[in-house]
Amino acid sequence: KAKTRGKGELMLFDRPMHEEARKRLDIETGLRHAVRQGAFELHYQPLFRLQDGGFAGFEALIRWPDPKGGGLIPPMSFIPVAEQTGLISPIGDWVLRQACRDIAAWSEAYPSLDRFFVAVNLSGKQFMEPGLARSITEVIRAGGVSPGRLKLEITETEVMQNPDVGIQVLTELKNADISLFVDDFGTGYSSLSYLRRLPIDGLKVDRSFVAAMIEDKASLAIVRAVVDLARNMDLTVVAEGVETREQHDTLKGLGCDLGQGWLYARPLGPAAAAAYLEGVARSMAG
Ligand code: C2E
Ligand code: MG
Ligand code: MG
Ligand code: MG
Repeated sequence: KAKTRGKGELMLFDRPMHEEARKRLDIETGLRHAVRQGAFELHYQPLFRLQDGGFAGFEALIRWPDPKGGGLIPPMSFIPVAEQTGLISPIGDWVLRQACRDIAAWSEAYPSLDRFFVAVNLSGKQFMEPGLARSITEVIRAGGVSPGRLKLEITETEVMQNPDVGIQVLTELKNADISLFVDDFGTGYSSLSYLRRLPIDGLKVDRSFVAAMIEDKASLAIVRAVVDLARNMDLTVVAEGVETREQHDTLKGLGCDLGQGWLYARPLGPAAAAAYLEGVARSMAG
């Protein structure tokens, strides 16, 4: 079809496509290399109990140090490519192992902090891999981590893509004593009758609702409905992306359990996360 176009037009039409494809190939090549080297970082963002302000745990968030130098590449710039190329499987494995290594090191360094959790994000691709529960159990056992320390986050859309498989996988994980949060809740398409059947521990209210909640009545109504739903189903409810005092006060007033966001803390690099825990341990002792 492009051949029927004039020469100049072909260039204009063709170049962005070509550049897009080349960029993706660059990312893929770089990712393959990074997977071989384990050249990623896990950053950790603290979560807090809104009612008493206590530290509850971390969410682990992957970063890819830019091989061309400079900063850290955010997950949204490479996770989709990793999913399309199958690289998500070794990357997800690295994330889980690194999280377990960190939990084990922290448990040794700060034995008084025996309650906080670490939540790890799973992609839908990983979630659908057969034997997921068994392989996760194996990794955490080998890492000397008790399953209760670990939570998994999976987005609503990904669980609901194939609800019957989703329920089966979640049940296997639950039987292995691993807790599960449904991430970005409210942005996907959940049937409430399926939600009722999912053996999950919590819901994470998507950041978009938290961001809009103060200005927009409908968003506030959605947050309230999710908090009430979670409470009535005995699920933990987490608000993500809390950026202002006003959002914090509103969420606390609604009875939301946990909060996470820039108001409290940004994701912390490995050294900063350890320093953070040391501070928590010290404040508990003193
Ligand atoms: P998510 O699981 O919903 O993670 C929350 C995202 O919100 C993180 O972005 C976090 O840095 C950001 N965030 C936290 N508080 C605030 C806030 O107050 N304001 C704003 N504007 N943003 C906030 P990040 O780290 O860029 O991760 C983006 C997404 O990438 C994650 O969304 C998750 O879906 C995915 N992801 C991250 N790490 C992993 C991983 O290890 N494996 C997989 N499969 N996906 C991951
Ligand atoms: Mg998450
Ligand atoms: Mg989330
Ligand atoms: Mg989100």
